[in-house]
Amino acid sequence: MKNLQLIKKWQATTQNNYGTPTLALVQGKGLVVTDADGKKYLDFLGGIATNILGHAHPAIVNAVTKQIKTLTHVSNFYAHPNALALAEKLIAMTGDKSARVFFCQSGAEANEAALKLSRRTGRVRIVAAQGAFHGRTMGALSLTGQPAKREAFLPLLKGVKHVPFGDIEAMRHAISKKCAMVILEPIMGEAGVIVPPKDYLQQVRSLCDKTGALLVIDAVQTGMGRTGSWFGYEYSGIKPDVITLAKGLGAGLPLGAMIALGKAASLFQPGDHGSTFGGNPVTTSAGLAVIETINKEKLMQKAIAYHKLIVKEVSTIPGVKEVRGAGLLIGIELDKAVANEVSQAMMHAGVLVNAANPATIRIAPALTVTEAQIKKFIAVFRKVLSDVN
Ligand SMILES: *Cc1c(COP(=O)(O)O)cnc(C)c1O
Repeated sequence: MKNLQLIKKWQATTQNNYGTPTLALVQGKGLVVTDADGKKYLDFLGGIATNILGHAHPAIVNAVTKQIKTLTHVSNFYAHPNALALAEKLIAMTGDKSARVFFCQSGAEANEAALKLSRRTGRVRIVAAQGAFHGRTMGALSLTGQPAKREAFLPLLKGVKHVPFGDIEAMRHAISKKCAMVILEPIMGEAGVIVPPKDYLQQVRSLCDKTGALLVIDAVQTGMGRTGSWFGYEYSGIKPDVITLAKGLGAGLPLGAMIALGKAASLFQPGDHGSTFGGNPVTTSAGLAVIETINKEKLMQKAIAYHKLIVKEVSTIPGVKEVRGAGLLIGIELDKAVANEVSQAMMHAGVLVNAANPATIRIAPALTVTEAQIKKFIAVFRKVLSDVN
């Protein structure tokens, strides 16, 4: 089947919640994906910051193949070695031996778990950021600070207050001793790769300490090395109470986690929460391969180096107002609201990116991207921007 035919059938069979897909993809290797017409693209969106090792990475293929032949699924009635090994690795990555892991499948679920955990403090109020994205299920949507995504589904959970991101005075006003948790992305991804002031997380941490509110870091998009550190908040020197992960954790397999640290690690009691597929042997085998490969191939160091290269080159392109983000989560703000046009033209020129907001192009390529691929992206972007302007 060709692209157009596939898309037409797709529309005839699936619900219209995503609008019309622009392409039908049938194959991928590394950062190169092929559509149903046989055209190849450089994938600089990575399944929305998810394919952290690109497509068909041998480490993932081998780990998953081996595991699916050995033991497929056990449910949470039984322990198994992969989830245990992955939990041990994640605990070590937090630097806090008291941390404990809950596995799930997605970012929304990881945040739902954090939300339920926070209720175990005996408090209900929550502070989140305007523009933040935490997922689409009713609980996660209650945390999400984007009116357009919420409006049709009101009323949502009561007691959630959204404050301007990066504004510590607004946070000071909103937080109180009745607050169960504050949830923040270290860098707001969906909102257009928005970076807070350097000391923001540090100051929010001290407000949480004063009031007893849990500080939940939603590292679903920034985590797993994407921003040059494991979870994206480390630069701030804080220790969160909860970290949520998904996207890059399974490198394309459905795997999420909610990691609670310190006192928060023992809030859940037997029966409080669950997920049938959570920490499945196959998905956790992918998670283990992700961590091992990021370490072995020094991918976080590479992400930091490539960030500098991209900022240096892209900042000088006419039509670019600002290049921001960290590691390989980058927002390119244009001086006109032409991000949709640019993203479409990039696709036709063979590079996949997305318009995170009307004036911002987001890129989140696999950490396995090569310098040659980055140069190609920059060349295509330069050409497209000059054509569009
Ligand atoms: C994508 C995302 C989510 C939601 O993840 P799903 O797997 O789509 O449920 C939550 N938080 C952040 C920061 C995200 O980027």
